[in-house]
Amino acid sequence: MNGGVNASTSDGTSIPGLAEAVRAAAAAAGDVDRMARFPHEAVEALKDARLLSSSLPVGIGGRSFRVSDLAKVARGLGSACSSAGMVFAMHHTQALTLARHGASGPIADLTASIAANESLLASATTEITTGGDIGSSSCAVLTDGDEVTLEKNAPVISYAEYADYICATARRGPDSAASDQVLLVCPAGSTSLERTGTWDVLGFRGTCSPGYLLSTKTLRSHVLPVDYATIAAGTMLPASHTLWASVWLGIADAAVTKARQAVRQAARKADGKPLPQAAKLADLTVVHQNFESTVTAGVMRYEAFIESGSVEPTIGFTIAMNNLKLAASTAVIEVVANALALIGINGYREDHQLSMGRLLRDSYGPQLMVSNDRIRQNNSQLVLAYRG
Ligand SMILES: Cc1cc2nc3c(=O)[nH]c(=O)nc-3n(C[C@H](O)[C@H](O)[C@H](O)COP(=O)(O)OP(=O)(O)OC[C@H]3O[C@@H](n4cnc5c(N)ncnc54)[C@H](O)[C@@H]3O)c2cc1C
Repeated sequence: MNGGVNASTSDGTSIPGLAEAVRAAAAAAGDVDRMARFPHEAVEALKDARLLSSSLPVGIGGRSFRVSDLAKVARGLGSACSSAGMVFAMHHTQALTLARHGASGPIADLTASIAANESLLASATTEITTGGDIGSSSCAVLTDGDEVTLEKNAPVISYAEYADYICATARRGPDSAASDQVLLVCPAGSTSLERTGTWDVLGFRGTCSPGYLLSTKTLRSHVLPVDYATIAAGTMLPASHTLWASVWLGIADAAVTKARQAVRQAARKADGKPLPQAAKLADLTVVHQNFESTVTAGVMRYEAFIESGSVEPTIGFTIAMNNLKLAASTAVIEVVANALALIGINGYREDHQLSMGRLLRDSYGPQLMVSNDRIRQNNSQLVLAYRG
């Protein structure tokens, strides 16, 4: 159970640049959280190590990383700075979409340029009118010859002002139904962002995610060639749930590390007397180990789905990915809260090296990132159709 800093790729070799990126993320984590600022240092280190293009296919300039490799990076970053980890995870959710649907045809030039430039991808899936119901849009793409325009009122777009492209959902056209959506890749250079809110929030402060009125004019070829429902089911949902869960596991790693430090410090003072904290630490490892097993199983399942070449996910696969999100988003709170109880007052202090403040605040974000209630509702319909 390590945070992945020395992680190896799935072929056994180490991931060059990961340790440097994790160190850069860790060094800035406190300031990123305090100032609610973008984790520039970590993202620059990821670019230097070519880890932003890592999920794109080798054939168009990427590195064809497997999901398990991306998950190791996400976990390592998550243990150092959860905001940096979430930026990495959200970016690769979009990059995996392009790897699957944007590596050939008219959009391939765009994907190749994203790989070559280590471009950062953000996403605008939620909309002011539809909230967390990302399966429907009210805004629509307007097509004029080879060009398209889009205006979207998005209540939350993470790191929008730092991204090179924002992947936005919208109705296919003005006459399309709310659920007939496409994904449009909006380049920063031809997209304006008018802030509609602030980002002074409890956790994940460095994701810098206020609301915006997004307005873009770009090429028609920047519309992905498949409908968004297909993208959501086969990529967005499993990619986000596996990579987010890996970041959250990293948060849990950091909490367990601090708890272990606290127990070691207490053991040194206890002079051989029984230590109640040691039993609590042992209990904590049960929850942490279960959490790790759940994430590993989910990652392997998604990786197997990609490598099988399956076009459509099964109902069982979708339920498993939803369950991963539900389980991981609650396990992270349990691990962090139990670690705080074990550490005691030093964990409660904001100015102590064992402070749990940032980890505790960050741990409450995962259940909102696509509301767990919505996922439960979705699962309750899927289980009726599922035949095992
Ligand atoms: C750190 C962070 C970063 C984010 N980054 C992005 C981003 O980059 N791009 C983006 O598009 N979005 C982003 N989001 C938005 C996010 O993913 C959610 O979709 C958005 O927060 C939903 O808004 P909401 O919380 O009002 O939830 P909603 O899903 O609209 O729910 C509102 C309320 O209704 C309840 N509810 C909803 N459905 C049901 C149901 N079926 N049964 C019972 N209760 C229900 C919920 O529990 C909640 O109380 C981000 C969110 C966070 C926290």
